[in-house]
Amino acid sequence: MAAPAHTIIRNGRLLDIAGHTAPPADLLIAGDTIAAIGPPGLAAPDDAVAIEAGDRLLMPGLVNAHTHGHGNLAKGMGDVWTLELLLNAGPYLNGHRSLEDKYLSGLLGGLDMIRSGTTACYDLMHEFPLPTAEGLAAAARGYNEAGVRVVLAPMVADHSFFEAIPGLMDALPPALARAVERFRLAPAETALGALRGIAAGWGGDPLRAPLALAPTIPLHCSDAFITGCGALAREYGTALQMHLAESRVQAVSGLRRYGKTLTAHLDALGFLGVNFTGAHGVWLDDDDIARLADRGCAVAHNPGSNMRLGSGIAPARRMKERGVVLGIGTDGASCSDNQNMFEAMRLASFASRIVGTDHRSWLRTDEVLHTATAGSASALGLGDRIGKIAPGFKADIVFLDLDHPNLIPLNDPVNQLVHSENGGAVDSVMIGGRFVLEHGRFPGVDVAALRAKVAERIAELRDKTREQKTLALQLEEIVGNFCIGLARTPYPIERRLPQGY
Ligand SMILES: [Zn+2]
Repeated sequence: MAAPAHTIIRNGRLLDIAGHTAPPADLLIAGDTIAAIGPPGLAAPDDAVAIEAGDRLLMPGLVNAHTHGHGNLAKGMGDVWTLELLLNAGPYLNGHRSLEDKYLSGLLGGLDMIRSGTTACYDLMHEFPLPTAEGLAAAARGYNEAGVRVVLAPMVADHSFFEAIPGLMDALPPALARAVERFRLAPAETALGALRGIAAGWGGDPLRAPLALAPTIPLHCSDAFITGCGALAREYGTALQMHLAESRVQAVSGLRRYGKTLTAHLDALGFLGVNFTGAHGVWLDDDDIARLADRGCAVAHNPGSNMRLGSGIAPARRMKERGVVLGIGTDGASCSDNQNMFEAMRLASFASRIVGTDHRSWLRTDEVLHTATAGSASALGLGDRIGKIAPGFKADIVFLDLDHPNLIPLNDPVNQLVHSENGGAVDSVMIGGRFVLEHGRFPGVDVAALRAKVAERIAELRDKTREQKTLALQLEEIVGNFCIGLARTPYPIERRLPQGY
């Protein structure tokens, strides 16, 4: 359904992030774009649909800079897992997905995000054994039906997890080493061929479902595959996202394999540029941060996932200080375990406070809100069109109910949106001038039917992935022990970090 030709939102309390205030204002929207903002009484064309918002706080839609659509069907399926144990479980968490599953994942993730005030996301979507145009189109259809914007990036590697961690394959008993052979991936040329085919035929709306590319993790990708993805991104003008220095195991493994940090390795390959977003960036030293800043890169900060998987805390303040574009993400629902950006903001604020005792280095709430809106929008490559309520920007607006206890009393809207709000006060969400959530309901979406359909699919997936689950459980202790040993390897970053990190 298209947005009305004109919409006038009257008397809403419009969030001013820098000013920590929310004065009453009127917003005129032309089609999907904000046309004018002014004090109450703003002139509007006769045909404008009027929306009274006197008891609503209006804020820009939150932008989720890092998630995985396939994780939406694997919510809550693990507990005491490091990143490596999650990756070990990957084949049964994410395997055997049909086109319908991919569509349902997009729809479910879209609804989850919209319900908690997110209007756009960067989805690194996995398909096994190779990405397909049909699979991505199915996911995009799900997101589009929910109404959320998505930058959709097929997440691809040419080395399996077991090949990626130096020494892990040799540590497996022969029978298990043979069993994980089934996870061997297609060579770089084949994977690049699949990505090229997808990029050449992609018909997604550039503001609704643009394509990006996501070579998964440096250690999981050969140099030829990484540089090949960089070249494809240049040829087709797409953004790039890659997990970067997420866990200590990865950081140590990077030094072993490349003789340099993961970031230095990507830089040496010529991969870092303004279209690049590194996800996580937990294990970065000052030289890495300088490299990312100097190349104009962004980092998606995912404090919820980093805590859940025990990965560490990213040096968000140092990245901001040095000029890295910073966004905030939830990460996939199999490691966060929701898509709630209010929670991600709150954790970003709190995480910054446990890495140093100097309170002047902590992230302020206005910085967190800016990072989760305009910052994330830049990480998506859409920073000039979304992430702000301003003329010329898309009308992606969250309406919060001022009658909700989270916002009573409204002492400081910015502090409260980051530290008090949890998405509970989100009443309505507009994306591109059209309501995709209206007073807590999704217009045109039968959520009960969706729940039933998902339950049916999950029952079938459980059967289909039983064998992979058995294998993952057999591997878990060996992988876990091996990675504990690796993680204990001294990593020079600790010596190079300034005091107070
Ligand atoms: Zn991720």
